[in-house]
Amino acid sequence: MLGRTLREVSVALKQGQVTPTELCQRCLSLIKKTKFLNAYITVSEEVALKQAEEAEKRYKKGRSLGDLDGIPIAVKDNFSTSGIETTCASNMLKGYVPPYNATVVQKLLDQGALLMGKTNLDEFAMGSGSTDGIFGPVKNPWSYSKQYREKRKQNSHSENEDSNWLITGGSSGGSAAAVSAFTCFAALGSDTGGSTRNPAAHCGVVGLKPSYGLVSRHGLIPLVNSMDVPGILTRCVDDAATVLGILAGHDPKDSTTIQDPVKPFTLPSLTDVSKLCIGIPKEYLTPELSSEVHSLWSKAANLFESEGAKVIEVSLPHTSYSIVCYHVLCTSEVASNMARFDGLEYGHRCDSSVSTEAMYAATRREGFNDVVRGRILSGNFFLLKENYENYFVKAQKVRRLIANDFVNVFNSGVDVLLTPTTLSEAVPYTEFIKEDNRTRSAQDDIFTQAVNMAGLPAVSVPMALSTQGLPIGLQFIGRAFCDQQLLTVAKWFEKQVQFPVIQLQELMDDCSSVFENEKLASVSLK
Ligand code: GLN
Repeated sequence: MLGRTLREVSVALKQGQVTPTELCQRCLSLIKKTKFLNAYITVSEEVALKQAEEAEKRYKKGRSLGDLDGIPIAVKDNFSTSGIETTCASNMLKGYVPPYNATVVQKLLDQGALLMGKTNLDEFAMGSGSTDGIFGPVKNPWSYSKQYREKRKQNSHSENEDSNWLITGGSSGGSAAAVSAFTCFAALGSDTGGSTRNPAAHCGVVGLKPSYGLVSRHGLIPLVNSMDVPGILTRCVDDAATVLGILAGHDPKDSTTIQDPVKPFTLPSLTDVSKLCIGIPKEYLTPELSSEVHSLWSKAANLFESEGAKVIEVSLPHTSYSIVCYHVLCTSEVASNMARFDGLEYGHRCDSSVSTEAMYAATRREGFNDVVRGRILSGNFFLLKENYENYFVKAQKVRRLIANDFVNVFNSGVDVLLTPTTLSEAVPYTEFIKEDNRTRSAQDDIFTQAVNMAGLPAVSVPMALSTQGLPIGLQFIGRAFCDQQLLTVAKWFEKQVQFPVIQLQELMDDCSSVFENEKLASVSLK
């Protein structure tokens, strides 16, 4: 049951094959068994069970609320949830309980979804590994999969099994791990420079970054307001479309959302791709790209071509400026955004009472980690009167050039771009932390950041397992507000590649070795 799609589980609920409470309990038990993944910061067990009870009453009366009624979901811990702690994985917000729900959370709840908990992330979503939050790193479920374990046994001899666990990618790593490990059916992430697509690729799930303005940001604690978008993590493209259909639309509380009404949609099953034109941006073939991702990317392009699609090489000439441009714009917005955390209104406040200024300084010192403080410092430098023109204004101009590159390509007749999502498969944690957060983001976001600067929709779809038995995803980028077309192409691709299901039973068995003292019942995924 836990491995089913949203539509399938919704049918099962309607037919009474399973009740919302049973579903909720199965997910809760799995959350407990996979606690060592560190995917959740808060498990909202009581809330979820209460919601399940209410859903059950509705089903009994034959009056279910909507497509998600009685279905477990999870939410990244940078979305405000009424009455449930929202930390952004930061000391600054530890203990902070928002008085309202983010619009996207409210929309999910209005459909009857069960909120299982709040998922782990990099502090304030700054990072690409889910390794830099105060609650510790998230472990990639694939580290414990049968597929990876078997390959590892063949290739290595001595190492301690658990010391080589892999990162999930980030910053929405908790959400990606939660979906990948079947602890919920869908999860919200956020995507400012790749934070939904990157962990989706590493965890073998679908990660959708909708068009900027299609989905409300109200209640999403901001990183970069002009680039942030709520992201959707699911196990298949249809599920992502279902969730997008629920979330999309104007929100009076977010003036950047579109005014036009958005109609709910179901994705057609494309049978003929011969009218499609797929663009392959030549600048995305970077020296750092692993040969395995490269060859899968080519294979995917060939697949489209062999089925009759037109596949052409295109150029996005300003791509190489995107990382540095993002850095200036991100840190500048961070410097301004983080000013709200002053120890007065909400969140952490230090003990010092020497002066207001000393209180601000000590609060922010204690509240933020080095990554956040470093970005605030850089941002304030770029915003200095004498630097503003040379850095901030210039970066905005470069951002326009980057966005125009995409406009030009799409105007030339390309429907969708096909690129890698990440440079390689997920790496072991010990490897990942050899580089600092900034270096890591600069490398890891190389294929994802430009999309945020252009506001376009993009989705990462798992394609195949690497020779090591780890997931590799590819990215499709669409025209602004053509999210449905993008997902239709992604769905066709997903059907062709038949990405394998993670062998979770193996993961469950491994739980027992991780938690030696814990008694573990075996979990049925059927
Ligand atoms: N890795 C990027 C950063 O740290 C993107 C993060 C995100 O998308 N939230 O800024």
